[in-house]
Amino acid sequence: MPDIAMIGLRIRHFRSAAGLTLDQVSERIDVAASQLSLMENGKREPRLSVLTALADAFNVSVTDLLDEAPPTERAALELDLHRAQSNSAYRELGLPTIKATRGMNDQTLRAIVGMHRELDRRARLAIATPEEARRANTKMRWWLREQNNYLPDIEVLADQATAAVGHATGALTHRTVAEMADRVGLSIIHVDDLPHSARSVLDLENGRIYIPPASIPGGHGLRSLALQAVAHVVLEHKAPTSYRDFLLQRLEASYYAAACLMPRRASVDFLQAAKDNRTIAIEDFRDAFGVTHEAAALRFTNLATEHLGIPLHFLRVSGDGAVVRAYENDGLPLPLDATGSTEGEIVCRYWGARQALGRTTRTTEHYQYTDTPHGTFFESTQTGIGSNDEFAITLGVPYRESKWFRGRESPHRATSRCPDLTCCRRPDDGLAQRWTGQAWASARVHAHIFSPLPHGTYPGVDDRELYEFLEAHAGDGGHV
Ligand SMILES: [Zn+2]
Repeated sequence: MPDIAMIGLRIRHFRSAAGLTLDQVSERIDVAASQLSLMENGKREPRLSVLTALADAFNVSVTDLLDEAPPTERAALELDLHRAQSNSAYRELGLPTIKATRGMNDQTLRAIVGMHRELDRRARLAIATPEEARRANTKMRWWLREQNNYLPDIEVLADQATAAVGHATGALTHRTVAEMADRVGLSIIHVDDLPHSARSVLDLENGRIYIPPASIPGGHGLRSLALQAVAHVVLEHKAPTSYRDFLLQRLEASYYAAACLMPRRASVDFLQAAKDNRTIAIEDFRDAFGVTHEAAALRFTNLATEHLGIPLHFLRVSGDGAVVRAYENDGLPLPLDATGSTEGEIVCRYWGARQALGRTTRTTEHYQYTDTPHGTFFESTQTGIGSNDEFAITLGVPYRESKWFRGRESPHRATSRCPDLTCCRRPDDGLAQRWTGQAWASARVHAHIFSPLPHGTYPGVDDRELYEFLEAHAGDGGHV
C-alpha cells in the first residue's frame, strides 16, 4: 500500500489526464472539492468507496490509483519535496514549507529537492553511524602505526610549553598546569555542574577552562583534562566537521597533554637509562612522572619505537575481555571484526591481559611470554578497577626485545592459536555434546564503544546544555 502522499499525487495526475477540475469531479462523485483537495495534497486518506468512484470518473482502475510508483518525474519530485519538508530535521529549522504548486516550474522544484537531498546527506554524515565511527577509528589506528605513534610537531609544541614554565622532569603540578593555561590566556575553574555530555568546557570569550572538581586531591586525571583543553587552543582546533576530524583533534589534544606531563627529553633519558640497565618497567615510568599506569604505557608507545628502537603493542582490555583501546606495530594479531576494527573484540583468553584479570593476587604487574601464530611476545600487564569495571593495561614487545624489560625472567608461558576458533572459543566435542540444547544464558548488553554522536557543534556534546552552562557561569566572575 503506497502512502497517502503518493495516492494524492496519483489522484491529481489521473484527474488532470482526464481533463477534469476539482469542482467537476466533486459534482460527479458527490464529495466536496475541499475534501478532494486535501486528498490530493496527501492530507487525508480517501476511503475505498471514494477511490472506486474516482477511478470510475477518471476511467482507470483502483489499482492504477494505488500504484506505488510516482506517475511522472514531476510527481516524483513533488513527493520528494513533500517528504523532505515533513521530516523532523527540516521542521527543527523553523522554516516555512513550500508547496509544489502548478506555477512552480520543474527547474525550481529540482533545485529545492536537490538542496534537501544534500542537507539530508550532510545530516547523515554529522551523525556518523557506529559503523562509520568504527571505520574512521580503524583508519586512525593504521595511520598512527605508520607514524610509529609519534607526532613530532606536537612534541615540539609541548617542549616549548613545558620549557616556558620550567617543567623538565618529575610530576607536573596543578600549579604549573594553571600557569601553562594562564600563558594562553585561560584560567582553570572547577565546577560540579558541567553538562553531563562534556568532560571539560572552554569559554573562549572569558578565557576559562571548566573542569570537574577533584574528587581526590592531586587526582592526576584533572591535570590531563586541563592540558587537553589548553591543547585545543594551542593547536588552534576548530569545531570538527567530520568524525575523522573529531578523532584526530581528540588524539592530538591527549597527545599534547601526555607530552606535557611526560616531556620528551626527560622521558627518553629516563627510559634510555632503564633500557641500558635492562629494567624497563611501565610502573617505574609511571611513578617517576606521577601519572596513571595507562598514561605511562601510552606515552611509552609514543617514544619507544622512535627513540629506543623498540616495536611494541598496547592494550586496554575491560574485565569481560573486550578491547577498549589497542595499538601495535610489532605484528601482534589483534582480534578484528569484518571492518578491521578491534575495539569491542574479545582478546584471546591466553594473552597476558586475560591471564592477569584471572589472577587473584593483582598487586604487582603480571609478566608472561605468549606464543602466537605471529611469533612470541613478552607482555607485562597491570590490572585496575575503573569507575564501572575492572580493566587490564598490557604493554608487550616481540620476544627479541624482552631483554630490556623487568620481568623477563618470568616463568609464565602461554600458547595462543587465535584467531583459530579451536584456540579458546570453540568448546571441545565432549562438552558441546553434553550441553547443546541443555542450557540457556542471558547476554550482558555491551555498552557500545562507538555510539552515534548526538548532533551539536561539538560532536557528542549537547549544544543547548553547553550554552546554558556557559551562560550560567559567565556572570559569576569565575568564583564558584
Ligand atoms: Zn585464543
